[in-house]
Amino acid sequence: MYSAEKERELIELTRRLLKDIPRIKTSDYNSALKYVDLLRKVIRYHDYKYYIQNSPVISDYEYDQLFRTLRDLEKKYPSLITPDSPTQRVASEITGFFATVNHYAPMLSLDNAYTQEELRDFDRRVRELTGLNRVQYSVEPKYDGAGIALVYKKDILIRGATRGDGETGEDITANLRTIRTIPLRAEFSRYGIDLIEIRGEVLISKEEFKKMNEDRLEEGLPPFANPRNAAAGSVRLQNPAEVAKRKLSAVVYQVSYVEPQSAYPPTHYEAIKMLHLLGFSTPFPDMKLCEGIEEVISYCKEWEEKRERYPYEIDGMVVKVNRREYYTVLGFTSHHPRWAIAFKFKPKQATTKLIGVVFQVGRVGTVTPVGKLEPVQIGGVTVSSVSLFNEDFIKEKDIRIGDTLLIERAGEVIPYVVEVVKEARKGEEKPIKFPENCPSCGSQLVKLPTEVAWRCINIACPAQVILRLIHWGSREAMDIRGLGEATAKALYEKDLVKDVGDLYYLKPTDLVKLPGFAEKAAFNLYSSIQESKKRSLERVIYGLGIRYVGLTTAKKLVEKIKSIWDLEKISLEELISLEGIGITVAKSIKEFFLRKENLEVIKKLEKAGVNLKKEKKEGPLKGMVFVFTGSLNCCSREQAAGIVESLGGIFSNSVTSKTTYLVVGKDPGRTKLSKAKRLGIKTISEEEFLEIIGKHTDLKSITGKEGVLF
Ligand SMILES: [Zn+2]
Repeated sequence: MYSAEKERELIELTRRLLKDIPRIKTSDYNSALKYVDLLRKVIRYHDYKYYIQNSPVISDYEYDQLFRTLRDLEKKYPSLITPDSPTQRVASEITGFFATVNHYAPMLSLDNAYTQEELRDFDRRVRELTGLNRVQYSVEPKYDGAGIALVYKKDILIRGATRGDGETGEDITANLRTIRTIPLRAEFSRYGIDLIEIRGEVLISKEEFKKMNEDRLEEGLPPFANPRNAAAGSVRLQNPAEVAKRKLSAVVYQVSYVEPQSAYPPTHYEAIKMLHLLGFSTPFPDMKLCEGIEEVISYCKEWEEKRERYPYEIDGMVVKVNRREYYTVLGFTSHHPRWAIAFKFKPKQATTKLIGVVFQVGRVGTVTPVGKLEPVQIGGVTVSSVSLFNEDFIKEKDIRIGDTLLIERAGEVIPYVVEVVKEARKGEEKPIKFPENCPSCGSQLVKLPTEVAWRCINIACPAQVILRLIHWGSREAMDIRGLGEATAKALYEKDLVKDVGDLYYLKPTDLVKLPGFAEKAAFNLYSSIQESKKRSLERVIYGLGIRYVGLTTAKKLVEKIKSIWDLEKISLEELISLEGIGITVAKSIKEFFLRKENLEVIKKLEKAGVNLKKEKKEGPLKGMVFVFTGSLNCCSREQAAGIVESLGGIFSNSVTSKTTYLVVGKDPGRTKLSKAKRLGIKTISEEEFLEIIGKHTDLKSITGKEGVLF
């Protein structure tokens, strides 16, 4: 639609307009006439980049500045408004795959405030229109996900739709049904409601987002830029079964339509509380009623600091007039309701220069290019490097050294290159050259036909050996305290350890040779290595670091086998027949056990007395399922799990009807507790837990502590 030349022109024009905003705002009619035209031109272009091509070239913040400037000019000179102005419509994402449906009430977006002053302006307008001296506001986090509207009729979920253009959305009911936080049935009839439309957002947690991108990279797919894109892409997948696999959640935060009208809750706060009580996930616990705008401002500030620690991406706070009775007098603009505003946090995007690229070797040999940046502040954090993922990613975005990059850093998620700002090029930028040899061991890199990554396949490659040691000692694997990055590196460099098997032949006298290791530290590391011999088989399998084999897969394998040697004999077909194990995983396991070097390591482990067999599930705790919440005094959760399993019990991460006990430690999570309560599962304290296991095992040997707790 746009030629490369045209694009360059428009990007240049965008930069100029952004710089000129203060001047544009005060322009007279004749200049306004000119500017309105230019602004519309660039906004249309950026709409196209964002909605059609999915590759924006400016930040959301910059886009918003352009849009607001245009809107303000049109407000100042209403005769300049044309029906095709971008301000006269809300952008649509409709693709034609799903049926379209009309929303009961139009889904308008909220006006944005970027400063405290803009919040005060908003408050002033509300007070003027309502005649109130002080307004009560309801303030809640603004979730950054994909907008949805749900309709319940006679307590049953009958429809779920995307936002679409605000008037009509796409019917994605089948997909939304797979999201567990959306109740398929909710007792609205208790509140006298026959039909209700509610607004919400589909979300992906930051943690899930990270995992999803790791998987995509493994599969050779381009990673998502942020959790919002990932959520939006997920709800519109064509196969609901695929949607179910993505761990989506949904939060609802607005009642937009009710039949009969008289059943409408009188305040926003009560409406959300009702949804909360009916089992929806809502902002309720994080929602606050504020008296007057100053209280609103301080609550927004509080959240701006808290947002990083929140499991979901939040890009601001939503401020709503609490009492519905004022909504009529406040009314709407063509775009926004006047009774609500979104306070946006500092933008999480910035532009900076790529000054170089280094190549890192991962645990399974994958070579990842990492861009070194001129340090830049994004959302209060200094960012100085960014993953460039793989050669295809670099090619697709045409990233060159010396380029100006638009970087986004969403939450705790790693920084991401959104786009290269090509108009900033001076002609001195250099293409990124991928090395032919491993930066760690020098051996030639290979790229398998089905893969996107270059890989070092030298099993003795130092970078990989060190990462394998660290992985083996990690908490979820063998949990060897003291075997961190520095120690693993030193062990390798001092020629003490070449693979994980060697760890078990180390003596305290070897370990004192490590830099900074006094006798006590050496002995502690020695003991935790020795202690790790007792770990369960699944942890051993996971610890070996077989490509694609995570803890879940390791557990699946252990259900099928009795000893690790069974994995050497098991056929590819048998592996694939296991639930959740596909061809890629199965092949990778077979490959691992075909390599002589790997078998040697396992033999070493066996000779040293590391447990390589499945524990007998017979034991005093047989048939009992333990779930833990909060932290324990006696030991780590991994250790507690180990104890339970060694006594024949089952350790589980989530409360189900099969759970025997929920062990409640310090600062327990609300979800597990309320679920246990709902299902009538017995909750016990740490003391009671220790009492149960203390009957069967010597507690001191487990916790290393004298006279634990009782
Ligand atoms: Zn190498």
